[in-house]
Parts: sequence; structure tokens; C-alpha cells
Amino acid sequence: LHNDVVDLRGQIRVAVRVRPMLKSEAEISSANFIEYPAVNEIAVNLGAKSSSKFTFEKVFTPVFTQKTIFDNVQDFILSSLHGFNIGLIAFGQTGSGKTHTMRGGEGDNEGIIPRAASYLFKESKKLEETGWKFQFSLSFLEIYNNEAYDLLNNHAAVKLRLVSNVVSIDGLTEHPLVKLSDMAGLLCIADKNRKTAATKCNEYSSRSHAIYIWNIKAQQESTGISTSSVLKLVDLAGSERAKESGVVGQQFKEMTNINQSLSALQKCISMQKARSQHVPYRDTKLTQVLMDCLGRGNSKTMVVVNINPCNEQATESKRSIEFAAKMRDT
Ligand code: ADP
Ligand code: MG
Repeated sequence: LHNDVVDLRGQIRVAVRVRPMLKSEAEISSANFIEYPAVNEIAVNLGAKSSSKFTFEKVFTPVFTQKTIFDNVQDFILSSLHGFNIGLIAFGQTGSGKTHTMRGGEGDNEGIIPRAASYLFKESKKLEETGWKFQFSLSFLEIYNNEAYDLLNNHAAVKLRLVSNVVSIDGLTEHPLVKLSDMAGLLCIADKNRKTAATKCNEYSSRSHAIYIWNIKAQQESTGISTSSVLKLVDLAGSERAKESGVVGQQFKEMTNINQSLSALQKCISMQKARSQHVPYRDTKLTQVLMDCLGRGNSKTMVVVNINPCNEQATESKRSIEFAAKMRDT
């Protein structure tokens, strides 16, 4: 029973990643409102009277590299080959490092998405020696202004449908991933589709959620037993608040949609953690799409809350940390 309890507690994890100051920021700003009193602790000091300390499953300080971050999440990602539905979600205000964490750059700068690809191929080869066969396919989805689009098919609009508590996405293309080198081409198409969409609106990429979906089918050759699971890697829209950003009209509506979907996500994670019977997955498109990996049944979630370390952003950063703490505390 003890093991069961530990396992349940582990189904939803919350981590915080504080990015380093950029060179351009260091010239005009400073970063000293965050401290790390102990491993996996973070303290936020906003003036003498307001200091609070938080503990998380992981606190990734600015010295963590893309590689050391991945080292810390790889076991979690590996469970997707063992039949678990896994969600790894990057949260944070625009500029806090979500895309860097998930997508990253080239070479040593690669983020979790390309690293997960090499890792899953490598680990699946090992498991294939024990008599399992794997089939991978990918779909990349984007949610903008509460509408869903296919990032691997000319940004075509797709429809979500809830059928007896399972979401199906009509028209979303699924691309077989036979070898690792197929991944680069698909990421390139997705990047291009996001860029094209961004010409319509500068803030497009910070106003949309990008969801990279791995479908995994595993079959044991001797028994024919098969499992299917998903790994969803999510680069969320910026979490900055509509009210405070000063935008109006259409932009205000977009940001309100984002704020709603992010608070719905927080609510679902908190309620799932509290083992509530009525988790409001249906409330937004985002929570519908992530429903199967938010800690229900055979699923596990990790939220990485990204933090901008500059003092000018201290209030927004503190809000992000509190958001993280709320999900952790339930
Ligand atoms: P977001 O996607 O949350 O808006 P980005 O990932 O685009 O933020 O990061 C903002 C800027 O900070 C980018 O120039 C990015 O390259 C840089 N950056 C983010 N995280 C790191 C990091 N850990 N190390 C170095 N640079 C980073
Ligand atoms: Mg981004």
C-alpha cells in the first residue's frame, strides 16, 4: 500500500525553472529577488516585508543546462513507453523560457522535444530486444483563441469532439515516425506553420498553445498483448494577465481566453490531485486536449513553471510561482 500511495502522489509533479539573465538584460537590469535556500526550495523577496519560501518537486536554478534539465525528466518521459499517458507542460509568462525549455535551439541548446525523440528511439530499441515492438506517430496541434489547428497540415482548423469522456480530434493528421531523422522534418513543418500564422499577429506565438503529441503503440510479440499511450509535450501561451497588460479589443479577448484556459488547467490539476469526482476537463479546449494526461487513471503530468529572473518582472514571476504552489499544494 505504501508504494501505491507514493505512486499516486507522484502522478502530478510541479517543477520550477528559473532561466539565466540574458546579456542584453544584464546591461540594464538586475536579478536578486530570488534565492535558493536549499535544494528544491525557492524564496521570493519583494521588499523587506514580503518574503516567501516555496518547495517543489524540482527547482531548476539558472545553472541547469538543457542537458541537465532533460536528465531530470527522462525517467518521467520513459513511462510513456510503459503504457502511461504522459503530459509535460511548460507554463510561464512570455519571455520566461517556455519555448527554450520545450523546443530549444540547435545542438547543445536542443530542448525537451527533440531530446525526447532521440531518447524514445534509443530506449525503444532496448525494449525491442526484450520482445516488444513499438510504433510511433506524431501530431502537432495548436490552440489559438480557443480554436484548434493542425501544425502539420497547413494550419488547417480541426474540431475537438468529446465522446464518452475521450477527446477525438477530427481531421488532425497523424504522421508515422519510423526513424529518428523523420522528426527534424516534422518539426520544421510545424515551426514554419507557426511562423506563417505569426505574420497575422506579432504576439501570435505567445498567444497560442502548442501541443506536440506522440502516439505510442507497443506490442509484445510472444503474447500479442498491446498497449497504446501518448506523450504530450506542451508549450503554453504566455501567462501574463490580460487586465494588467493594457491591451484592448480583439487582443483583450485573446488574452482572456488564454487566462481562462490556464486557470482551467490549474483547476483540473488541483482537483485531480485532490481526487475529486468532477474535474472540469470540458471547460476549455486546452483541458479537453490534455484530459488524458492530467493525472487521471494511467497518466502522469509534470508542469514546469518557467521564471524570468529580472527584477522588473518580479511581480509576474511571483504570480507564476504561486500558480505552481497552488497545483502542488492540493
Ligand atoms: P517564452 O517561450 O516563454 O516566451 P523563450 O523560450 O522564447 O520564452 O525565451 C526568451 C528568451 O530567453 C529567448 O531569447 C531564449 O533564447 C532565452 N532563454 C530562455 N531560457 C534560457 C536559458 N535557460 N538559457 C539561455 N537562454 C534562455
Ligand atoms: Mg515561446
